[in-house]
Amino acid sequence: MAARILDGRALAAELREAAAGRSARLRARGVVPRLEAVVVGADPASLAYVRSLQTAGEKAGVEVRIARLPDDCDEARVRTVLHVLGEDPLVHGVILQQPLPAHLELRRIAEAMPPAKDVDATNPLNLGRLAFRAGTELVAATPSAVMLLLERSERSALRGVRACVVGRSSVVGLPVALLLLARDATVTLVHRRTIDLPSYTRDAEVLIAAAGTPGLIRGEMVTPGATVIDVGTNYVDGKLCGDVAYDEVAAVAGEITPVPGGVGPVTTLALMMNVLTSAEQIASASLRREGAV
Ligand code: NAD
Repeated sequence: MAARILDGRALAAELREAAAGRSARLRARGVVPRLEAVVVGADPASLAYVRSLQTAGEKAGVEVRIARLPDDCDEARVRTVLHVLGEDPLVHGVILQQPLPAHLELRRIAEAMPPAKDVDATNPLNLGRLAFRAGTELVAATPSAVMLLLERSERSALRGVRACVVGRSSVVGLPVALLLLARDATVTLVHRRTIDLPSYTRDAEVLIAAAGTPGLIRGEMVTPGATVIDVGTNYVDGKLCGDVAYDEVAAVAGEITPVPGGVGPVTTLALMMNVLTSAEQIASASLRREGAV
């Protein structure tokens, strides 16, 4: 039997409607939710991406502005810009578009991201908070999207479920593993150096592919009935595809996300929802301050 499709576009449409409602309530209080996307240099893919965020933001009620910095900008300047955005009461979310030009080191700059407005969890502090299960952290958009899709799946009750995450990056694989652990799943995190990858993936009731390797997950690597979430975003001969050999895996799995139309659209909405959460928190804090004086 063919797998049920976990439709990211349909979920994104639902989330967009909810986001627009939250935005309307904020605007009624005089708060315009705003995301500032910092782009260093002129990487065409980066600029295309942030422009697509502007369009998505318009529909979700979030104003998206692009702060462009020159290609030869030094680390101190980027850190200063992030600091200024952190202090600006009209800005509720900040993202730093990657890749950065080669002379800039992400790790040092990421630490300057204002934590309360860090809507794609670039500052290591937010990943650390996730590890501590503090509950105060902003969770990066893609890992959030994975969890939102799982909530709509037949495996929404994750307690005790065997989950395998393929990929251990600090932006996707690792935070996804931490989020699954926080939901009491039994998590296996595998990566490029894992020996005998199929022996782990085959054991999983929930399989998350976040490797950036097209077609890595084959039909015989998936247990019948598994829920498969494909985070991979790869271009093969100009065509967007995931990490999962879709037709083969869809014939075995119970549920599957397509690429395109799975994790991607939900990720954009997860980012917008983080901006709204941040705007709501900032607005409430300022109300409390006003009440206190
Ligand atoms: P990354 O290159 O930083 O990390 C890839 C991880 O996968 C590494 O841990 C590596 O060890 C592992 N890996 C790679 N090849 C493997 C293999 N053959 N076997 C086992 N493990 C392997 O990439 P990333 O930033 O984590 O992104 C992963 C994928 O998700 C990419 O395709 C990326 O484009 C995509 N992505 C999608 C979204 C979205 O919104 N849909 C957002 C972010 C990233």
